[in-house]
Amino acid sequence: MADLLIVGGTVVTAERSMVADVAIGDGRIVEVGEHLADGNGRTPTLDAGGLLVLPGCVDVHTHTRLPSETEPDRFFQDSVAAAHGGTTTFLAFNNPGTGISDEGSRSLLAGMREFRARTDGESAVDFGLSAVISGQQDDPIAELPELIASGVPTAKAFMVYDFRLTDDRLFEALRTMGRHGGMLEVHCENATVIDALVTDAVARGNVSCRHHALTRPTYAEAEATHRAIALARAADASVYIVHLSCADALAEVAAAKARGWPAYAETCPHYLTLTDERYDAADEAEVIRSVISPPLRSESDRGALWLGLRAGGLDLVATDHVPDRLAVEKRCPAPPFPQISNGAPGIETLLSIVYSEGVAGGRISLERLVDLLATTPAKLFGMGTKGAIEVGRDADLVLFDPQASRTISQSNLHHTGDFTPYEGRAVRGAVRSVLLRGEVIVRDGVFSGRRGAGNFLERMATA
Ligand SMILES: [Zn+2]
Repeated sequence: MADLLIVGGTVVTAERSMVADVAIGDGRIVEVGEHLADGNGRTPTLDAGGLLVLPGCVDVHTHTRLPSETEPDRFFQDSVAAAHGGTTTFLAFNNPGTGISDEGSRSLLAGMREFRARTDGESAVDFGLSAVISGQQDDPIAELPELIASGVPTAKAFMVYDFRLTDDRLFEALRTMGRHGGMLEVHCENATVIDALVTDAVARGNVSCRHHALTRPTYAEAEATHRAIALARAADASVYIVHLSCADALAEVAAAKARGWPAYAETCPHYLTLTDERYDAADEAEVIRSVISPPLRSESDRGALWLGLRAGGLDLVATDHVPDRLAVEKRCPAPPFPQISNGAPGIETLLSIVYSEGVAGGRISLERLVDLLATTPAKLFGMGTKGAIEVGRDADLVLFDPQASRTISQSNLHHTGDFTPYEGRAVRGAVRSVLLRGEVIVRDGVFSGRRGAGNFLERMATA
């Protein structure tokens, strides 16, 4: 007996699309097929005629901020934004910028416990944690096996910034993750090159925002991507390259995949839509919105990333959401570029951007969209009940109107940042309704869920 029927929509999976009904019972999908309505009409139905029925998006890369005494709603509100955008599961990092305490920054396990305590009862959608391994923690690698066993099988390490891991530590982290069924995510940029370019720029007085991009060349990303993959190969471990931004780095991942190595990579909506032209704006307050790492790249890089999504060199799209506010975290008017908070909001615009630019733009198929935004992220990050419309999976569903068109603007978004990089962009398609484990949490564009309805996901080891 079903609790709810979604009728008459076009159900999309990573393999195919078909007009079908979806029956939901106890929060899970119990049947997918034609004409599931019971003759007496006793089961509540949701009409999806003319709409696409997609699995809820799984965003594996966000830097949502933790609730605090002065900002108690920030985690909740970003989870509401996720719901509006059709994302029913997200993974958050607990890096210092998210408001984790010094204590929680010092150890992976303390950080995990603090994250869980502070997000308990907060989220409107399901969520999980990806830990951040820092070179400033006491002995993070020793903590990895327990971290993995407690439902956090992925962690991110950095090859740049003060808290980067040196190559020997990165190798050890990869090896430990590999042995215990975890997967290391790596931010790949060559610190030696970038530090030298930044030092030179500052010495010459070139401290405006655009120099952020000029000091982070594509070859620095490509070299580090190559090195991370080589170390993973030597460690007999899989590796996941976060926010890949350029053709040269993509070539490194594609070469590794061609050899059959377990190297995976994500790109982000901003690299698929925006280019380094943004750094030419005369107004610093405009440029600071695009200070992200890696920076926005050229038009030819943008084209290469779409080809990578089509051909499989790239595995998925995630947002790298950072809910910065211009006058607060970004500290407008801008400080010298090395001190600007890196990042831009994106948790709510993932599906909109990738659907409009990708599917409506003729670059990827609808099935590939589902694969990139739901099925592959769920599989790669150990969320077995998520990411697909099939019997037994959680009924996390998005009813999406492919015919609608709308304009993205900060005034119609719900995240806790105070700008969007897509201000004024016209997009095809719109999220109509969203279900989390069978509950309608967005109905006709209006949030109808509740704080704390989202569960923390203890994820499975990934390898
Ligand atoms: Zn990030």
